[in-house]
Amino acid sequence: MERQELAADPKAQTVGPVILLGAPGAGKGTQAKLIAQRYGIPQISTGDLLRDHVTRGTELGRKAKAVMERGELVPDNLVCDMVAERLNRPDCGRGFILDGFPRTVAQAQWLDQFLTGNLFENKAVSKIRPLVINIAVGYNQLWKRLTGRRSCPTCGRIYNVYFSPSRVADICDVDGAKLITRRDDSEEVISQRLKAYERQTLPLAEYYRGQGQLREVDGERDVNTVSAATLETIEHGDRL
Ligand code: AMP
Repeated sequence: MERQELAADPKAQTVGPVILLGAPGAGKGTQAKLIAQRYGIPQISTGDLLRDHVTRGTELGRKAKAVMERGELVPDNLVCDMVAERLNRPDCGRGFILDGFPRTVAQAQWLDQFLTGNLFENKAVSKIRPLVINIAVGYNQLWKRLTGRRSCPTCGRIYNVYFSPSRVADICDVDGAKLITRRDDSEEVISQRLKAYERQTLPLAEYYRGQGQLREVDGERDVNTVSAATLETIEHGDRL
């Protein structure tokens, strides 16, 4: 089934499944948040869901913690079970944005089965083919974005020491808290995460290209230009 005709109110539109592909640091999270807000559909970030499990100390969190700290991928079956539980919630009825999932061809095959099989409760959405948007960013740019990332533990604001530094080094402009680096943003772990991406996630672009589902967005431009291109792809992606 094709994506539905566009509704006047984006929040009434049936968007269907949207998958954001791209390396760590490509800006998937930022774009996913903007899309989620515009259409009133959930952003499902497996990285955020896993970090939440780690913080809460659940069984999944205990299994995932060490793997994440090494910058490797959490086993497919654990991540797929977690995603299945999330996608079956009623807020996914008009569509959802997957950010950081799938990350292996096996996860993509599982997702295809899940959406078209009888396991998915939101039947209307499952009839719409996922739109896959690859946010493309070169290696040097990714490296600076990831190693330069700092966040405020109090208000959550994100800075980058190269591109958008705080006024005073390491101090949040908003509330004066000391900025922190995410545990998996250390140089050693970043290099592991980029390797995992190249080995396990890059082949996914070919998988979706082969199915005629892949759309490309140049992610090296500023955030607003990238989000305009991403929204344009969602609105007209099927008609390209
Ligand atoms: P992210 O915030 O998307 O960069 O994810 C942080 C970490 O969570 C990754 O380095 C992986 O260890 C783990 N992770 C997130 N999504 C997945 C996934 N789809 N499959 C396996 N591991 C994942």
